[in-house]
Amino acid sequence: MSTSPKQLLDAFEIAPKKSLGQNFLHDPNTLARIVESANLPPDMTVLEIGPGTGALTVLLAEQAARVICIETDTRLQPVLERQLQAFSHVEIQWGDFLKIDLGALLGDAPYYVVANLPYYITSAIIRKLFEHANPPRRLVLTVQKEVAERILAKPGDMSLLSVSVQFYGIPQWVMTLNPAVFWPRPDVESAVIRIDLHPEPNPHVPDIPRFFHIVRAGFSQKRKQLKNALAGGLGIKATALEPILIQAGIEPSRRAETLSLLEWEALYQAFTQS
Ligand code: SAM
Repeated sequence: MSTSPKQLLDAFEIAPKKSLGQNFLHDPNTLARIVESANLPPDMTVLEIGPGTGALTVLLAEQAARVICIETDTRLQPVLERQLQAFSHVEIQWGDFLKIDLGALLGDAPYYVVANLPYYITSAIIRKLFEHANPPRRLVLTVQKEVAERILAKPGDMSLLSVSVQFYGIPQWVMTLNPAVFWPRPDVESAVIRIDLHPEPNPHVPDIPRFFHIVRAGFSQKRKQLKNALAGGLGIKATALEPILIQAGIEPSRRAETLSLLEWEALYQAFTQS
């Protein structure tokens, strides 16, 4: 049975939709390395967002105890049914991942996420997973290379995305992907990253929404000094913010992208005490 996405879609007379980020992985070595990098324990449940024609799903099904897929494009139903007919432990949920009730789907069981993401909603997907009451233990994600670089950034190049991901887990580079391993070829380079979640968010802050309210305000105005960005984002005068920044050990003229996670924590603590 063919697993080439192009042959499968041609056989079912389906054209890939750019608007749904449909760039299918067709290189067997890349697919195998993605699954290998997840290092799946045999009893693990895997959540796959966007199974497409099932190329990755089949490999996951061969290793995982249970695979739950969420796919929005119902045109792919006959393709996936055919490709996955041998695997009774694979469930497909049809719908938009961003609208799906993850609690009802996953319960409290531990799970990993392995997915070649639709790039147009990468950040929203990551955010939904991390903010869920039962977040995944590990994620192996294919994302746009530039997004992978932003996620792994260090102080000097930080963004709201890197602070968010590094708050919840430890991201690592797995490999860079040439556009040729996809069909159709995307216009951008891609990368596979693995994120292992901390048992508890780190730094430990009692009020996570408040922590991110401050971080978001800090990044709200690009290239501005932190005191001005925070002033605009929080609606507080810059002069009132200076002593708080100084108490946190942060020079008020610095920019948000230079702060480490520990400095964001210190700033959160200084706000809490002020
Ligand atoms: N996993 C397949 C592979 O590696 O070849 C397909 C990956 S393709 C980059 C992204 C997949 O996500 C497509 O099948 C697309 O239809 C699906 N998708 C797009 N938006 C989605 C959404 N909001 N919820 C669930 N799936 C979505």
